[in-house]
Amino acid sequence: MRLTAVNGRAHIQIGDRLVDVAEGSGGNLPSDPMALFDRWADLVSWAGSAADGAPTVALDEAKVTCPVPAPRQVFAIGLNYRLHAIESGLAIPEVPMVFTKFPSSITGPFGELVVATPKVDWEIELAVIIGTTARGVSRADAWSHVAGLAVAQDYSARDVQMTPKNAPQFSLGKSFPGFLPIGPWVVTPDEVPNPDALRLWCDIDGERMQDSNTDDLIFPVPVLIEYLSSVTTLMPGDVIVTGTPAGVGLGRDPQVFLQPGQVVESSIEGLGTMRQRTVAGDWSWTP
Ligand code: ZN
Repeated sequence: MRLTAVNGRAHIQIGDRLVDVAEGSGGNLPSDPMALFDRWADLVSWAGSAADGAPTVALDEAKVTCPVPAPRQVFAIGLNYRLHAIESGLAIPEVPMVFTKFPSSITGPFGELVVATPKVDWEIELAVIIGTTARGVSRADAWSHVAGLAVAQDYSARDVQMTPKNAPQFSLGKSFPGFLPIGPWVVTPDEVPNPDALRLWCDIDGERMQDSNTDDLIFPVPVLIEYLSSVTTLMPGDVIVTGTPAGVGLGRDPQVFLQPGQVVESSIEGLGTMRQRTVAGDWSWTP
């Protein structure tokens, strides 16, 4: 099943058409996508028969909004691909390196990205959306707690992220408005051939900047869920952005960062493509 949102209302895909979940279910399921993650089993069960006579509307990218717009928690993983850790000049972690992106940074898959500072960087990432409460879950059971997978970008203002030098602020530097686009779909894991091996890539103005596969993750999805749920309680709708592969601007020689007027396209095999157009920002702060 593939879930998206149109002007904030949950829709599922049937062929090349979309079905409004609340209308199609006769009001049995909510239109708020976040409320649906609490009813995930009901949604999947209804979706199996939703093609029968439900009203449909045509897909329009301009109206697509984030299918997971307000999770209670966002977990982000740093340095989870070996080559990216090396290009970042940081040690390969022995346990997952965890930070958050504050939920106000979440946005839909198509739109403008405000290049807030001179050092805004791109990071294509696989997003995992939790479907059932997970606490103390083993890696063997982890996938059963996943509602779906999505394309995400972990946009990062390196100048804010890397200061102060003795205590870098990953969470804040990665939380400007619009720095966490997710979508266009939340796709159930059964829709992809192997959810542990998905090719992911990122193009800027048509040039391939990142191209890797989630089978290169140092800590794969089941291990991340086991580790995170050993400490915290994961709740339906929570998002885990699992880390980015090599090829970010920070790791290039010379370094490259996003400029106004560019187009960033982020894709994951079987999950779709997101597109942001960059526009100028003017952030500054004086201590
Ligand atoms: Zn990242």
